[in-house]
Amino acid sequence: MIDVIIAGGGPTGLMLAGELRLHDVHVLVLEKDAEPTRYVRSLGLHVRSIEVMDQRGLLERFLAHGRQHTLGGFFAGIAKPSPDRLDTAHGYVLGIPQTTTERLLAERAAELGVEIRRGCELAGLSQDDHGVSVELADGTQLRSRYLVGCDGGRSTVRKVLGVGFPGEPSKVETLLGEMELTEDPATVAAVVAEVRKTQLRFGAMPLEDGVYRVGVPAEGVAEDRTVPPTLEEFKQQLRVFAGTDFGAHSPRWLSRFGDATRLAERYRVGRVLLAGDAAHIHPPTGGQGLNLGVQDAFNLGWKLAAEVNGWAPEGLLDSYHTERHPVAAAVLDNTRAQTELLSTEPGPQSVRRLVAELMDFEEVNRYLIEKITAIGVRYDFGEGHELLGRRMRDVKLKQGRLYELTHGGRGLLLDQTGRLSVAGWADRVDHVVDSSEELDVPAALLRPDGHVAWMGDDQQDLLSRLPQWFGAAVS
Ligand SMILES: Cc1cc2nc3c(=O)[nH]c(=O)nc-3n(C[C@H](O)[C@H](O)[C@H](O)COP(=O)(O)OP(=O)(O)OC[C@H]3O[C@@H](n4cnc5c(N)ncnc54)[C@H](O)[C@@H]3O)c2cc1C
Repeated sequence: MIDVIIAGGGPTGLMLAGELRLHDVHVLVLEKDAEPTRYVRSLGLHVRSIEVMDQRGLLERFLAHGRQHTLGGFFAGIAKPSPDRLDTAHGYVLGIPQTTTERLLAERAAELGVEIRRGCELAGLSQDDHGVSVELADGTQLRSRYLVGCDGGRSTVRKVLGVGFPGEPSKVETLLGEMELTEDPATVAAVVAEVRKTQLRFGAMPLEDGVYRVGVPAEGVAEDRTVPPTLEEFKQQLRVFAGTDFGAHSPRWLSRFGDATRLAERYRVGRVLLAGDAAHIHPPTGGQGLNLGVQDAFNLGWKLAAEVNGWAPEGLLDSYHTERHPVAAAVLDNTRAQTELLSTEPGPQSVRRLVAELMDFEEVNRYLIEKITAIGVRYDFGEGHELLGRRMRDVKLKQGRLYELTHGGRGLLLDQTGRLSVAGWADRVDHVVDSSEELDVPAALLRPDGHVAWMGDDQQDLLSRLPQWFGAAVS
């Protein structure tokens, strides 16, 4: 039997597949599209996702295909410099099109032995105590021990499970596409600047060779957003908002997106889980959705692998919902707030000016950037040191870097005392005796996702904490 079927080969599903394969889990990814899409939604990775790639030895590949930009201006587009002293070794945004991110994650998954079946649409599912039966649109039946729905905002898995998806429907819709413009670049830039004084959903960003990424408000909200707009519809809306269609022609792709904000009530029903857009949707303000999905996968991968491999302690798999649901709720909240601040009505504009003034305080600026980049995320592991529950940044050790030691996706005890031991858990947790001038705790136990599960110097205390995350000791 297949261990885990993943429905959906977008960034979340592909990241999850790689994480599972690190632990020898037999994974099958079902992707309904026969070919990779050309539609570029996300334009970049934020700090936490960059760190995630670094933790798995993937960063070089991403850096080779991306461009580093400063971190300022990400909260509601309010122009401010990057805050000083951000708690990361990667204080930048990596500009990289979603299509490239997906290609790199697919290559990585394939290298690790993941089977990706394209042109395969999940149409139905049922589950019992032993596994999940999956039905494909062509009638094929498959069986696996677990199923993860990474099948996007319109998730079939979520709908078949009957999991509620409360929130707000789309009120506005934006047309987005890549196309050539015959108008000269200076005129395009001047018109865009003028229109954006009153309409922030309008834009035309030059890419290369006369190709622009163009966005414009749609006339209404489409019944079925999977149907792309025509070039004529696009040009019509450009004329409505800019008084010109810039001579738009030769589109590479055209699409439309809404501003619905919704969060799944549950991330797990028995042997079926939800991750990424299947579990949460929100407007793209601040560029967080792909990042959130990749980080869901990073949280879920090792836990589901532990379950499959038989050593997961009681409650480990459920901690995926407990930890990630509030994180998504917070992202939905900050996008709602940003959406208000983007309104050109006088009231929200006054609040925007006030927030902009407040962001001149370094602490406020940093707080908001930590939210958007997700390095401020802290899971509730109870009372303790301020690092407990947070991910540990990369630190320089005497013999290399911390993140270089985490490529295998295992737990890690970073021991500056040299007196501790993980005997009994050595098959799941690496013990590294080394030290760092950047670390003021004697020792830290990191989960495979890099979050700090324990700190201290007492072996008995460590022994009381290891089973909570890594199960029973083996002799
Ligand atoms: C205009 C726009 C700009 C954005 N910009 C950013 C940004 O800058 N930064 C950012 O972080 N996020 C951004 N996002 C959000 C980001 O695109 C999504 O959050 C991200 O794609 C979610 O990834 P996913 O893998 O969860 O879902 P998806 O990318 O939607 O992937 C789901 C996959 O499942 C497949 N599928 C669907 N149903 C089935 C089925 N029944 N069986 C099999 N396969 C199925 C689909 O074909 C698809 O490949 C943007 C979104 C939009 C619309």
